[in-house]
Amino acid sequence: MAVTSEDLGNTGTLIYPSRIKLPYTWHAGKAGSRFYQGLRDNCRICGTKCPQCSWVYLPPRETCPRCYRIMDEWVEVSNVGTLLTFTVTRYAVPSIQPQEPPIAMGIVKLDGASSGLVHLLGGVDVSELRVGMRMQVVFREKRQGNYLDIEYFRPLKT
Ligand SMILES: [Zn+2]
Repeated sequence: MAVTSEDLGNTGTLIYPSRIKLPYTWHAGKAGSRFYQGLRDNCRICGTKCPQCSWVYLPPRETCPRCYRIMDEWVEVSNVGTLLTFTVTRYAVPSIQPQEPPIAMGIVKLDGASSGLVHLLGGVDVSELRVGMRMQVVFREKRQGNYLDIEYFRPLKT
C-alpha cells in the first residue's frame, strides 16, 4: 500500500514500501575455503591452532585475534561436543525462518576446539534441551561447500 508524502507532511510524491534483493558473491578466504571443502568432501571439521596461545579456532581463522600470530597448523576436531548455550524462537517470521517454530539455536563447542559454532539444534523436543548436553553434528546429505553442510546439532545418541 502506497504512503503519500502528505502522510509524511509533504504533498505530491508517492512512496511505496519495498524490498530489494541483492545477490552477491564473496571469497571465503584461504581458511574458510579449506574449512568448507573439508565439510563438503569428507564431513571433516577442522580448525586452526595458534602457535602462541594454543587456541583452536572454529571456524578457522588465518590470524589469532588474541596474539596476532599467523596460524598455519590445522587441527581436526570431533563431530561431538558440548552445548554451551541456546535460545528458542517460538513465534513465526514468515519467509526468513529456516523451519516452523519452535526453532532452537545454540552454540556447541566441539571436542578439540576452543570456541563454539552457532547453529540450529534439532532431533529433540526443545523442552529437553539443557546447557552442558553432549551434542553431535548432523551433516547434510548433499553438501555444497558452505556452512549449511552442517544441517544441525542433535543430542548425542549413546
Ligand atoms: Zn593466539
